[in-house]
Amino acid sequence: MADPKGLSVPVIFADRFYMSERSLGEISSLGGYRMAEAKDARDLAEKIGGAPSVKVIVSEYVQVNDLVLDRAPGVKGVISYGAGYDHIDVGAMKGRGVQVCNCRGENAQAVAELTFGLLLSLMRRIHRADPWVRAGEWVKAGRALPDWASGLELWSKTLGVIGLGQIGGRVVRIAKGFDMKIIAYDPFLNPELYARWGIESAALAEVLSRADVLSLHVPLNSATENLIDSGAFAAMKAGAILVNTSRGKVIEEKALLDALKTGKIKGAALDVFATEPLPAGHPLTEMENVVLSPHLGALSQEAGDRLSDSVARQVRDILEGRPPECLIV
Ligand code: NAD
Repeated sequence: MADPKGLSVPVIFADRFYMSERSLGEISSLGGYRMAEAKDARDLAEKIGGAPSVKVIVSEYVQVNDLVLDRAPGVKGVISYGAGYDHIDVGAMKGRGVQVCNCRGENAQAVAELTFGLLLSLMRRIHRADPWVRAGEWVKAGRALPDWASGLELWSKTLGVIGLGQIGGRVVRIAKGFDMKIIAYDPFLNPELYARWGIESAALAEVLSRADVLSLHVPLNSATENLIDSGAFAAMKAGAILVNTSRGKVIEEKALLDALKTGKIKGAALDVFATEPLPAGHPLTEMENVVLSPHLGALSQEAGDRLSDSVARQVRDILEGRPPECLIV
């Protein structure tokens, strides 16, 4: 049951994201939901408007902070629709005894597969070849393809993974199929896991200096913001390739542009950006050694169904007074 005015339902979807019919049916049976389609935290706060019925907020990108909680006096839990939860003020929620959870792992395979999709596109020039063929340039060129058409292989290259969680772990598994050597940096991981996965653990500086391909899979927080700054680019192997499907602000954008312009790195494959949507005419859109996608890493149909199920299960947990399965605080 969707209640457009939202005065009586327990669940608010802050922004627009996919929910399966089955999961919506389940949430309806728990009292119903409202799609707020809020632009930002202020808009969300206004749309909740002090309604005491609202017990759970589900948000993919809209910030959930004190401003929102001030207008949501009955809220018991906030669910991040996805893996990252940098848009939720966890400290503020904890201070008010509001539970926070995400949908850990549900979209990890989708992001890991996109990581290789972007990487292969960049390395084998698919991003340039497709529009070239469509524009009739192949007919003009004949058999002699332009120099840019000659790409690079993944086979036997060294992959450096920063952040070895749900997504990083799946990236490792796929990389093994390409016979890549793998080194990883994740100071929070149980060291036994490296041995079990058959990969090498190294300090950040060593991963940067040895990786032919560097792939980022850390959450955005105060320790990872600008983790890949000008110093990190200087430490990277010359001619390396950088892939980012984590969060844009993990990379210092000016340093990235410099590294791409000077040729310090050979290319970058990016799904996420410091500012999203990426503004029209942004310098990255004018570079041929860059592949761009619009933060669609999690958007597989299978991941959408898993995320919906996870949201419905955790809504039920919160409403029925149990800790949700992916509790953060
Ligand atoms: P996860 O929590 O399973 O894994 C994150 C890993 O990073 C953990 O193992 C953690 O120990 C490690 N880590 C934390 N701080 C670190 C640091 N300073 N240095 C090195 N390692 C560190 O999360 P996940 O599901 O693998 O997702 C990772 C991130 O990917 C999310 O936080 C989110 O921002 C991003 N993401 C993007 C998309 C997309 O659409 N592109 C989709 C899902 C997730």
